[in-house]
Amino acid sequence: MCPDLGRAKLPAMPIPTLVIHGGAGLVKAHIFAEHQEADYHAGLSAALAAGLAVLAAGGPALDAAQRAVEVLEDHPGFNAGRGAVYAHEGHIELDASIMCGATGRAGAVAGVRTLRHPIQGARVVLERSAHVLLAGAGADTYCAGQGVATAPPAHFHTDLRWQQLQAAKTADRIALDHDGAPGPVTDAKLGTVGAVALDAAGRLAAATSTGGMTNKRWGRIGDSPLIGAGTFADGRVAISCTGHGEHFMRHVAAHAVAQRVELLGEPLGAACQAVLDRIEAGGGLGGLIAVDAGGAIALPFNTGGMFRGHQAVGGPATVAIW
Ligand code: ASP
Repeated sequence: MCPDLGRAKLPAMPIPTLVIHGGAGLVKAHIFAEHQEADYHAGLSAALAAGLAVLAAGGPALDAAQRAVEVLEDHPGFNAGRGAVYAHEGHIELDASIMCGATGRAGAVAGVRTLRHPIQGARVVLERSAHVLLAGAGADTYCAGQGVATAPPAHFHTDLRWQQLQAAKTADRIALDHDGAPGPVTDAKLGTVGAVALDAAGRLAAATSTGGMTNKRWGRIGDSPLIGAGTFADGRVAISCTGHGEHFMRHVAAHAVAQRVELLGEPLGAACQAVLDRIEAGGGLGGLIAVDAGGAIALPFNTGGMFRGHQAVGGPATVAIW
C-alpha cells in the first residue's frame, strides 16, 4: 500500500479528482472505421467511472489511477493492453509505469508481451521489487511469478492494428526508396492511455500504459514507462503524457512540469503548457494530463485531438476527443 506521507503539508479537504487520457494524435477519420466515436466516449466514461468509484469510496489515488488504466487497457480501441499497436516483427511490446506521489515510489515495465494488464505489472514492480523498471522477458517472468494475469497473443490482436502495421511497413519501404530515411512510422493516432488522481487524503498518483508506436523496431521504448518522462507524481502534482515519446523523453516532460510548479511557482496549467510549447518547438506532437494537490487540472494537447476525461467526486463527468 501507499503510506500517507507528507499529508500535513497538503490542503485540509481536497476534492478527490480523476483525469484520464486515451492518447493524442491526428485522430483521423479512419480511426473510427472499427470503433465509433461513441464507443470511445463509452470507453473513456467507463474508465472514469471505475477510477472515480475508488476515490469516492475513500480509496488511494494510486488505486484509482491504476483502475482507470486497467479499464482502458481492456478496450480494443486504445493503444494499450488489448488493442495495442504492433511492433515491426508482428508482435506487441507493451510499456507501463505508475508512481505514488506521497511516497515517491514508482514501478514500470517495458517491452512486455504477455501481461493482460501491463499497469498491474508496473504496480507489482512498485510494491514488491527492489527496482523501478523491468524490461523484456524478465519483466514478463517476474510479473507472472507475482501473480499478474497473462494472456495469449490473440487477446491483444485487432485487425485494425494489423492493417496499420502493414501500411506502416509499406510506407517504410517507400521512405527507404525515396529519401533514405527508414524508421518508425507513426500511427495517425499516437495512442497510449493514462490517469492521474488526487484522493481525499491529498495523495497524488499517475499511471500510463501503451503499446508504443506502430512498426517500432530494435526494442524501441518510448517515454511511457520512464518515470519523469511519461509519468511523474510528487506531493504537489501528478502527470501522465502521450505523444511522440522521443520528444517527451528529451524534455523529461512529466518531471519538467513538476519542477516548474515547485521551483517557479507556476500554476499547473501554465506549467503544462510551457512544457508542451517546448516540445512543440522541437517538432513534438502530443499532450498530457495533470492534477495538483488543490484539485486543479490541466489537459493540454497540440494535436488534432486527445481522448480525455475528468471528474471530481460529486461533480459531473466530462469526456471529449476534439
Ligand atoms: N508516448 C508513447 C510512445 O512514444 C506513444 C503515445 O503516447 O502515443 O511510446
